[in-house]
Amino acid sequence: MSARAGLVIVNTGDGKGKTTAALGAAMRAAGHGRRVLMLQFIKGEWESGEHDAVHKLEPRVQIRRVGKGFLDPATGPTKEDMSGAREGLEQAAGALSEGTCELVILDEIINAVNYGLLSVEEVVEAVRSRRPGVDVILTGRDAPAQIIEMADTVTEFKEVKHPFTEGVKARKGIEF
Ligand code: ATP
Ligand code: MG
Repeated sequence: MSARAGLVIVNTGDGKGKTTAALGAAMRAAGHGRRVLMLQFIKGEWESGEHDAVHKLEPRVQIRRVGKGFLDPATGPTKEDMSGAREGLEQAAGALSEGTCELVILDEIINAVNYGLLSVEEVVEAVRSRRPGVDVILTGRDAPAQIIEMADTVTEFKEVKHPFTEGVKARKGIEF
């Protein structure tokens, strides 16, 4: 028998903490000498603090932003959004099947599926085709049934309160 079976972990729901929890898991894995790749599929236009922080942990932990960043729900996905997500999935599938990293985080990939940038089938296929022993974390609101079904651990982050609803803007160091 080769290494232990890798786990599929899903951080979903409308509450805050899905991406930051995945970053916490990255820190924990890195502390045990594991290599981590985090691909961020859809992100706001701000440079998120984790990018700079993670540079100090390279090459053990790597973060790459894939795709164009902010997707405008009013206009829908552009060609660049589509090709960015596709390229991100290719990078993800490559890392998962090669097994060069023991933890692969696909941040906001669930949103990429919900926006129609990627099909749920191809995401499930890429995760299922991973090397034994590779753990995967997928994040994003409203995880589809097929993703929940494939997962070992699913946590729903539930909003109880968020100052955004009181008109407080996103804060540097907390939201990005
Ligand atoms: P975080 O990145 O803080 O862990 P998240 O990954 O759970 O949050 P996303 O749904 O990816 O949240 O939202 C992206 C941005 O919106 C982040 O800057 C996040 O902090 C912020 N955010 C998260 N939840 C809420 C909420 N309920 N209301 C308003 N803004 C939110
Ligand atoms: Mg997030």
